Order: sequence, then structure tokens, then C-alpha cells
Amino acid sequence: MNTQILIQCENLVKIYQLNQQSGESVEVQALQGLDISVRTGEMIGVVGASGSGKSTLLNVLGGLDRPTGGRAIVGSHNLGTLSTRALDEYRRLKVGFIWQHGARNLIPYLTAVENVELPLTLSGQVGASTRARARDLLKLVNLQERMGHKLEELSGGEQQRVAIAIAIANNPMLLLADEPTGELDTATAQTIYDLLRDLNKRLGLTMVIVSH
Ligand code: ADP
Ligand code: MG
Repeated sequence: MNTQILIQCENLVKIYQLNQQSGESVEVQALQGLDISVRTGEMIGVVGASGSGKSTLLNVLGGLDRPTGGRAIVGSHNLGTLSTRALDEYRRLKVGFIWQHGARNLIPYLTAVENVELPLTLSGQVGASTRARARDLLKLVNLQERMGHKLEELSGGEQQRVAIAIAIANNPMLLLADEPTGELDTATAQTIYDLLRDLNKRLGLTMVIVSH
């Protein structure tokens, strides 16, 4: 087993400034000195009360938000000190995201395979290989039987599988999932967790999964 550390957070602090209507500014300390380390290939779950900072942690690890203090290092990337451009590149090339509303960014009248092809094309992968790659990704999430179905014809769990296929399309070093089963029934939620575990094992993909 690979015991290399991929994620290292030390005394990680995130403070949001909220501007009140009165003109005063109020500070919300969303992360108050968090220490966490995650090994390459590890799959970890983060649970906690609503408002405890789980999404904030994922946003920092995914380069969507900057730490206010402390250190957040993923691989060779020090997320607190990267330039804006380098952080954009990190987010685009190194991280995959799965959200609670997985299908929100997908297009209902396109098929599953077309939905996966779209971001591949936008990221510059064009040609016949794009379709082949999209098919392979849908096979990885066990949707080979539904590739030609329009998104709106798929169940919530199947739509989330399409979103997962897209999240891993750029071969991310880290997959972040924020309550990925929040809108699914218990049995379907279990199949999504089984899939994530399977991808973790087969691809060796490091995952941080927030659940409620
Ligand atoms: P969780 O995901 O565990 O429910 P969050 O990370 O969303 O928690 O939020 C942690 C705290 O930070 C909450 O008090 C929330 O209101 C606050 N917060 C989160 N995002 C912002 C933001 N963009 N601006 C201001 N406050 C925020
Ligand atoms: Mg949250």
C-alpha cells in the first residue's frame, strides 16, 4: 500500500466576512485550525453537523476558496500561496467534484454519452476518441446499458453516475464529493457509495466524501 501523504492541512483556518445591511462586517469562522492528513489512495468520510465547515473544507481542498490561515497542501500544491492562475489550473486539471445536485450541471435533453462528451470537447479533446472516452467513462460507472438515454429519462441515481463519470474524466488526483447522495433514497445512496469505493479501489483515486 502506498503510504505517501496527498493532503496535509495544518491549523487550517477559513474566515468569511459577512457584510451586514447596517454596514458592519461580521466574521464567520468556518474552519478553526483544522489538522488533517490523507494518504494517496485513501477514501475518507467527513461527517458533522450542518454549518460545521464540511463544504468549506472541500472548497479549500478543491481550490474554489482560499484558506485564511494555516496550511493546505495537496500533492505539490500549496493552496494558500498559489497564484490565482495556478489555482484555476489546479482546480481544472487535478480535482474532480461531485455535488449533491449532481445533475444540475448536466443537460436534460442530451444523452448520457453526449453529456460526458461535452466537457471533454470543451477541454480540448476532440475527435472520434472523445466518444470512445465518454463510453469508457460510462462503463466505469456501470451505465453502459443507458448510454444512449436522455438524461431526463434516467433515475436520480443514474444521473449521479453520469456526474461521477464527468468528475473523473480529467483523471483527477483527488475526488471531492459534497453530500453526493443527499437527494437519493437509502438503497440508491448505497449503490453510489459502492460505486465510489469501487472507483477508489480500481483507480487508486484519493477521495474525500462529505456526508450528513
Ligand atoms: P457545512 O457544509 O458543514 O454545512 P459550511 O462549510 O457550508 O458548513 O459552512 C460553515 C460556516 O461558514 C457556516 O456558518 C456558514 O454559514 C459559513 N459560510 C459558508 N460559506 C460562506 C460564505 N460564502 N460566506 C459567508 N459565510 C459562509
Ligand atoms: Mg455543506
